[in-house]
Amino acid sequence: MRRYLAPDAVLPLTCTRSGTCCHGKDISLTPAELARLARANGMSASAFRAAHTSAGGTRLRMSGPPGWRGLAACSQYDAQRGCRVHPARPLACRLYPLGRERSGERERFFHEGERFPCLDGCPEVTSLPRLSVADYLRGQEIADLCQVRDSYLEIAQDLAEGAFVLVFDSGLAESGSGDWRQRWQAVATGGPEAWIAALGSEWHDLITVPDIGSVSEDAWVPAHARLLQSQAQERLASLTEQSQLAAASATLLAGAVLLLHGVGADSAAVARAWLVKAGEVRG
Ligand code: SF4
Ligand code: SF4
Repeated sequence: MRRYLAPDAVLPLTCTRSGTCCHGKDISLTPAELARLARANGMSASAFRAAHTSAGGTRLRMSGPPGWRGLAACSQYDAQRGCRVHPARPLACRLYPLGRERSGERERFFHEGERFPCLDGCPEVTSLPRLSVADYLRGQEIADLCQVRDSYLEIAQDLAEGAFVLVFDSGLAESGSGDWRQRWQAVATGGPEAWIAALGSEWHDLITVPDIGSVSEDAWVPAHARLLQSQAQERLASLTEQSQLAAASATLLAGAVLLLHGVGADSAAVARAWLVKAGEVRG
């Protein structure tokens, strides 16, 4: 259960810096966050994805030595120094122990459960200065990464719309072909392996480790959006064979689901809603 928080709610939000929450956590990653972490490590994005992420590049791998409660440390955690990539840490780390939810223009912050999450690993947090939610969030400098996540939600929506266009505006839906239905089912009911299989390695790279060139941080996500749009037009627009259209629609759908997973959304629920919309699942 989520406990939604008013900006002026005062909580024990001064971190003890014990690093307990850098163990065994589920840290979602957008492509822009992956690229930042790769730069902080002096690695290419694809090398970082291979070495330090899971779920096709949408989760930070917990592959360090076991620590708190025997849980594996984050791959970016150093037992002596703490987070090795602090200035480049992802939004999920900046927010913790809070989470963020956005619906339309409405943005809400919450923590999971009735009990304040830090009390599990760091009960001494109660003896440190308490902060308002607004002050805590200001100190975490989250504005640009919130914008990144919201932009990727829009990009995912655009990719999904592209999948619908390929199926419903091309005559494929009325053709009686079951190929696209099977592919969509595989994407919507599968996990990262199924998404990557539907994407193929080139689209997987375009989605998670795009070659953007040298642009400023602010321009990175818009440049990624333009790259995906131009590649979709170039590679998919001329397809006419039903099997090609079916595969291409599943590729776009898988790209959308992978990006949703990267922003920490409930990608399975959204994919199921898309299947319902496509008339594939009733109720
Ligand atoms: S659990 Fe809370 S207090 Fe402890 S290290 Fe993590 S954020 Fe800081
Ligand atoms: S990226 Fe840094 S702050 Fe986030 S879980 Fe890993 S070590 Fe902790």
